[in-house]
Amino acid sequence: MWLLLRAEATPETLLQALRAESLEVRVHRLGDRWALEIQGNGHLSEAFARYEEVERVFSTHDIQPLVQQWSHNVELPTWQRGKGLLWIAGPCSVERKADFLRLAQELRAIGVQVLRGGAFKARTSPYSFQGMGQEALDWLFEAKSLTGLPICVEVVSETHLPLYEHVDILQIGARNMDDYWLLKAVAPLGKPVLLKRNPQATIEEWLLAAEYLLLYGTPWVLLCERGIRTFERSLRYTMDIGAIPAVQRKTRLPVIADPSHAAGRWDFVEPLALAAIGAGSEGLIVEVHPEPLKALSDAAQQLTIEQFQRLYERANAIYTVLSRHLSEPLQA
Ligand code: PEP
Ligand code: MN
Repeated sequence: MWLLLRAEATPETLLQALRAESLEVRVHRLGDRWALEIQGNGHLSEAFARYEEVERVFSTHDIQPLVQQWSHNVELPTWQRGKGLLWIAGPCSVERKADFLRLAQELRAIGVQVLRGGAFKARTSPYSFQGMGQEALDWLFEAKSLTGLPICVEVVSETHLPLYEHVDILQIGARNMDDYWLLKAVAPLGKPVLLKRNPQATIEEWLLAAEYLLLYGTPWVLLCERGIRTFERSLRYTMDIGAIPAVQRKTRLPVIADPSHAAGRWDFVEPLALAAIGAGSEGLIVEVHPEPLKALSDAAQQLTIEQFQRLYERANAIYTVLSRHLSEPLQA
């Protein structure tokens, strides 16, 4: 049995009470709060749930108690959940300041609520462009103050975290979804996290990564399906459309889709995006570049601003039609 204490509570009083019952207790520090692990004795949970220090009691048999029971608000200044799609857009990598600032303003004018852009890139080949690093972060901060939009940036290393103070949504990339020590380092910052699914991960493994984040202090996790690895090679990955409703059966955390990395080519981004909205995705993260053919990373899959504008209109149209026909999930 686990007792998860409130963020401001300390464990001393409870420890005394538990030890007075001769219970074996292990004390854990999880981000900025304490948790007590008690061997056996599920029947004591009600008694201990009454202590004011205790936020939640769960059994060691619960697989993802925080993910399954999550019921807070998703707070973003530019997006109200349930009132339209969440649009996150921007280049794979932020490469040149002036081009990026212009693109950021164009995206804002179209209606995007969050800007994305890579600074430190996680590349498969060590010879590929690794990102502009801190310089790109500075340009992202400039774009944030110019447009008033929040920014979402991937974190690849715990050592970079001091540079991310003004980043609004921390992105954990597909390659790092199961870097549990990175998750434990990111979560106590208390910022929302966009968690990509590792292409090799089952839904359960993906949600366990989200459980790490919630346990260590992340207020909400934006789950992002971005394609998994299958035997099929015609697109870069296989977008697991079924994962969207499957995850929504297990958690109220928001789920969005990334058609850009799943497709790997610009001309398949729109069909995958529309399919994801049809399946219930609450938003999209899309790569858009001022001149895709000149992009230093993921050139083949990035959209021009005109292609993005068309996708934006078509996906919103599907969302609007579907939300006019809101219905409860089908019953057997
Ligand atoms: C990205 O969003 O730039 C990225 C690298 O995506 P993924 O982690 O899904 O490959
Ligand atoms: Mn990319």
